[in-house]
Amino acid sequence: MILLRSLRDTNKKVTLLNLFQTVVQTNKLHLNSVLPNKDDFVNINLQGNSLKYPSVWLRDNCQCEQCFHQSAKSRILNLCKFNVNVSIKSVVQDETSVQVTWDDDHVSRYALNWLKFRSFMPEDQLKYTKTLYRPVKTPWHGKDFHKVCAKHDYERILYSEAALYKWLQDLSTYGVALIQNTPNCDTALDGIVEKIGFTKRTHYGVKFIVENVANTSNVAYLSSNLQMHVDLPYYEYCPGVNMLHCLVQTLSEGGENLLSDGHHTASYMKNNYPDQYKLLTDIEVEWSDVGVEHGNEFFKLYRSSVICLDRHGYVKRINFSVPQRGSHFPGPIETVKPWYEAHSLFYELNQKFAAQFKTEAGDILVFDNIRLLHGRSAYEDKSDNVRKLIGAYVDWDEIYSRLRCLKAKLNPLEGI
Ligand SMILES: [Zn+2]
Repeated sequence: MILLRSLRDTNKKVTLLNLFQTVVQTNKLHLNSVLPNKDDFVNINLQGNSLKYPSVWLRDNCQCEQCFHQSAKSRILNLCKFNVNVSIKSVVQDETSVQVTWDDDHVSRYALNWLKFRSFMPEDQLKYTKTLYRPVKTPWHGKDFHKVCAKHDYERILYSEAALYKWLQDLSTYGVALIQNTPNCDTALDGIVEKIGFTKRTHYGVKFIVENVANTSNVAYLSSNLQMHVDLPYYEYCPGVNMLHCLVQTLSEGGENLLSDGHHTASYMKNNYPDQYKLLTDIEVEWSDVGVEHGNEFFKLYRSSVICLDRHGYVKRINFSVPQRGSHFPGPIETVKPWYEAHSLFYELNQKFAAQFKTEAGDILVFDNIRLLHGRSAYEDKSDNVRKLIGAYVDWDEIYSRLRCLKAKLNPLEGI
């Protein structure tokens, strides 16, 4: 069915017979390539366990200077001369390494630690995914917010790599982490950003100021109620993390933050409202932002579903913003009303699951912008009390990279 649809999408006219032949040929090709011969795998003994490695993978990952550039830490073998059906002359193992001599007399040597770290055993692959690839995300309900939102200290993050690591680890796991005791100046946020890398610049600038502005270019710059949303869903490369430094908090009623974990809501919908969940994962809508900021015109459009899944069915991104959803609906007309019902349900559940709190001057609220929805209740400025936040975005690529660098330094993994 998937094959049929994708062929139709490319506007190729195929008869059922063609299709049948394609499937048969594909299967044949598949079968031929998976039939193992004795040279396809090498078994290596590691502390009493026999671990199996594909020969083609070993040859591809030869660590010698002809195949791997030592300072660039990158593969340099010539793919034009690469033999997928490589065969082995001999395998010799000592206490710390394995030496493989290939049919063309090329010799590869691998440290046992290096091999162990790259084990193909499913449990080892899973361990690597969780420890080094990306920390596992823990979804939460707003009633547990006080437990999941860890408090971190500004100075400690600047001067201790362990504190920086802990903060980024909490942020990746729960999608939120608060920094306290931040100096009361417009550039204080820069110090934190520099500990990670650099900001994600958008058409709202390198940093942005959130305060009440008449004739604003964005509804966030008003003092009225701000419905829960993610920032900038109209970017294909949507900013990963939002950092909001509170310089002046309102003394009036309101100005409270609302935060809801979109992963928790998605999982709740999947279990309790599967049809509506499917609509929100399948149907693309158009996110948009059109206007002028700092004299620069912008016309941003991006089509995507509200809940975006990866190929394993895990949520990889949440898009939600009432003001920044465009009026063009790219899907079939029959899907519109059911989609609106599912969309309203998603919002209602996020409101139900949201945590409500009020940051103080000196707080930097840091949260995952492609996972959490955030909002703010209405407030009122006074002449001597004008609420002011300074914000910046940082991408997940930079955060995960910093986390891995810190992990390798603070808690070295054998064979990395
Ligand atoms: Zn080599």
